[in-house]
Amino acid sequence: MKPLIAGNWKMNGLSDDAKSLAEDLKARSAADLPACELLVCPPYLHIAQVAGILQGTEVRVGGQDCHTAGSGAHTGDVSGDMLRDLGCGYVILGHSERRADHGENDALVRAKAEAAQAAGLVPIVCVGETADQRASGEALAVIARQLKGSVPVGMDAERLVIAYEPVWAIGTGQTATPDDVVEVHREIRKLLVGLVGEGSDRVRILYGGSVKPANAAELLAQANVDGALVGGASLKAEDFWAIAASCP
Ligand code: PEP
Repeated sequence: MKPLIAGNWKMNGLSDDAKSLAEDLKARSAADLPACELLVCPPYLHIAQVAGILQGTEVRVGGQDCHTAGSGAHTGDVSGDMLRDLGCGYVILGHSERRADHGENDALVRAKAEAAQAAGLVPIVCVGETADQRASGEALAVIARQLKGSVPVGMDAERLVIAYEPVWAIGTGQTATPDDVVEVHREIRKLLVGLVGEGSDRVRILYGGSVKPANAAELLAQANVDGALVGGASLKAEDFWAIAASCP
């Protein structure tokens, strides 16, 4: 399975910043392409510009969220069809920041995942426990509950990505230990058999949470780690490229 290194730009950068980051990635992809699939997820407003710059390169573009409906009276929202129309191939769903900032629950994430696949996008469904949940020994139970609630049963395995993102590791500089990552990814892989059935071993499971050039190689070398979802470090082309180059 080709690993996927996905950059989540979140709500960062003005138009000129997005342009120079995309141009830097374009130049790097022409010079030296890592052995993984590369994806960047800019803020909605920059998607068209970034997709235009990266057209014809191996760096793909995705969204950070989408609505469950294809169109309609949903002020401020964006549909999977709109993302697809701008050249997106992926969409991040159920990120812990959306679960926290917008009260998104598993049922909504599941409906979005269904809508995204129907629109021709590959959903990247995020799950992960908080620090308190880990401290009280609930991490695996929380992840199992989120996964079962957020992933529609019988999804096309080739067109589904899961991201394990411990909430306490996002943007904090703390990363899960390789042993913890292996334990959680093994559990996710097991649960996927029941959820996706045939082909569940082909669903890519990404790790996310303070992935940097310095820790990427060790994390990406672990069993069932099929790539990374990268926040802060994806805003610097050099760091993003170094992480991608760490894929085994
Ligand atoms: C993320 O938000 O998806 C993320 C992993 O962020 P960071 O790499 O900054 O921890």
